[in-house]
Amino acid sequence: MTKKATNLSSLTRWLRDYRVLSRYRTQWLLAALFLLLAAGATLTVPLAFRNLVDTGLTSQAINQQFINLLILAAVLAVMTSCRFYVMSWLGERVVADIRQRVFENVLRQSPAYFETLQTGEVLSRLTSDTTLVQTLVGSSVSIALRSLVMLIGGMTMMLITSAWLASVMIGLLLIIVLPLWALGRYVRRMSRASQDKVADTSAMAGEVLNAVTTVQAFVREPHEQKRYQSAVEMAFAVAKKRIAMRSALTATTILMAFSVIVFVLWVGAQQVTAGTMTLGDLTQFVLYAVLIAGSIGALSETWGDLQRAAGATERLVELMQAEPAIAIPRAVEPNNKSSVTKPAVDQANAIVFKNVTFSYSSRPDFLAMKQLSLSVPKGGRYALVGPSGAGKSTLFAMLLRFYEPTSGQIGIFGQEIAQWPVSELRNMIGIVPQEPVIFASSAMENIRYGRLDATDEEVIAAATTAHAHGFISALPQGYQSFLGERGVRLSGGQKQRISIARAILKNPPILLLDEATSALDAESEREVQQALDSVLPGRTSLTIAHRLATVLRADRILVLENGQVLEQGRHDELMAQGGLYARLAKLQFA
Ligand code: ADP
Ligand code: MG
Repeated sequence: MTKKATNLSSLTRWLRDYRVLSRYRTQWLLAALFLLLAAGATLTVPLAFRNLVDTGLTSQAINQQFINLLILAAVLAVMTSCRFYVMSWLGERVVADIRQRVFENVLRQSPAYFETLQTGEVLSRLTSDTTLVQTLVGSSVSIALRSLVMLIGGMTMMLITSAWLASVMIGLLLIIVLPLWALGRYVRRMSRASQDKVADTSAMAGEVLNAVTTVQAFVREPHEQKRYQSAVEMAFAVAKKRIAMRSALTATTILMAFSVIVFVLWVGAQQVTAGTMTLGDLTQFVLYAVLIAGSIGALSETWGDLQRAAGATERLVELMQAEPAIAIPRAVEPNNKSSVTKPAVDQANAIVFKNVTFSYSSRPDFLAMKQLSLSVPKGGRYALVGPSGAGKSTLFAMLLRFYEPTSGQIGIFGQEIAQWPVSELRNMIGIVPQEPVIFASSAMENIRYGRLDATDEEVIAAATTAHAHGFISALPQGYQSFLGERGVRLSGGQKQRISIARAILKNPPILLLDEATSALDAESEREVQQALDSVLPGRTSLTIAHRLATVLRADRILVLENGQVLEQGRHDELMAQGGLYARLAKLQFA
């Protein structure tokens, strides 16, 4: 992720892959047309003035001359504004595409990706980095093209005026371009560092704002303010370095360009003195030289912008091209099915773990799962108990294929987990996570997230089953009530019931409940458990729970500790064994 930036290759590679030229060919061609017409009009203005001066102020011709000037001005105005419109359109369009692409690709990543990446950082990339790209495409490219046209036109005219002087000048210009190019690379490195710092501050602000009540409860506002301040100051310090470099770049450019002009002027003056060149020729030559110097100045400015945008784009390109750690399986062709060499997984069971070992990539030497084996038959209602940190939630994450096992096999409905297309696999599983997730929308939409095409009646039925109907109806606008960002307007138990309703609405063959009723009082929990009694039959379910009421209902209890299944059986069997379960039961179910 922290790949060193060394050149523009990632930007150009991306531009090629994205086919930014061919995709919007019409717009580019229009822009080029408007550009050339505007440049043509600009170059004609001196001619019009010359005509005006040469024809003298005789009343007959003079009206036409002034009308010509006005027409020229009108052409220039319209062409310039058309060019501005098309180029800005392109800038906005490309940025809109980039934003969508970055978001789409970040959404594909597996959870491990987000363990190292902060969401606030992605948000910053989506807003501030893309703005740089927009400046680049929408204005810098336009200025660069115009300057380039002027540069080429000016050079040509200069060569016509005095080939020898022009060659001297062009040679000198080429020599000064090299150090400027080296400086530009440095500016780009600083630019990337600067954007990284900005992203850091966004990430920090996002985190603090999400936890604002905790911050206030611990009276840590001054502490957070100081942390944010130092991050912002750090970003400023890096930006300062960048603009200092950029200023140096500008000064160097101007000084070098003018030195060249002065030198060439001096050489020309020698020629005039020697009588090999007329004063008029020299004057004309110098005027073109000034025009060229102006274009070079503008070009170096836009080169700076390009360097800056390239620094930003590198990070965007990384976000756009990151590949998810979990490979999406290739579709198995029907006639190939018989030749699948993978060992067949137990057909009778809905869920099978066979000697599964797993460790999180952030803690490679810690085994979150050690040779774990278990099986849940179709329609089985199993409970999972064990101390916190035993690996229960990890087991659910592996069923959803958020992580791949280091070794061993996981089978779902008789097929190796990796053989299922990921979306199909996840559509078969309904999960009520340990931390319920509520989106910033209405109760209705939050539950409907389980099945987007569900009718209002189906949503209400699911809510009723999850014992959520009562409290939702009591909200100010009932099901249309806005639940607040992250559900801040709900209690923990209410959030859990919304989360359960969402899973019930999805109506999946496998249901995973991760301490789904832990925030409910005993009374509500009993009601939700009864409700689950009506949805669980015919479904395979795994319930992580700490309460006796839940565990007693299970067909079988699996006791997990340190990533292994320690004991399994029914409540009374396990109690009789007097092992870990009996110990936990005495402590928790007392
Ligand atoms: P629980 O049984 O309480 O649900 P978990 O499955 O959440 O336990 O966690 C099992 C172990 O894996 C714990 O020791 C935990 O610290 C570790 N763990 C969980 N998630 C991660 C992660 N994303 N990265 C590294 N370690 C993790
Ligand atoms: Mg857990």
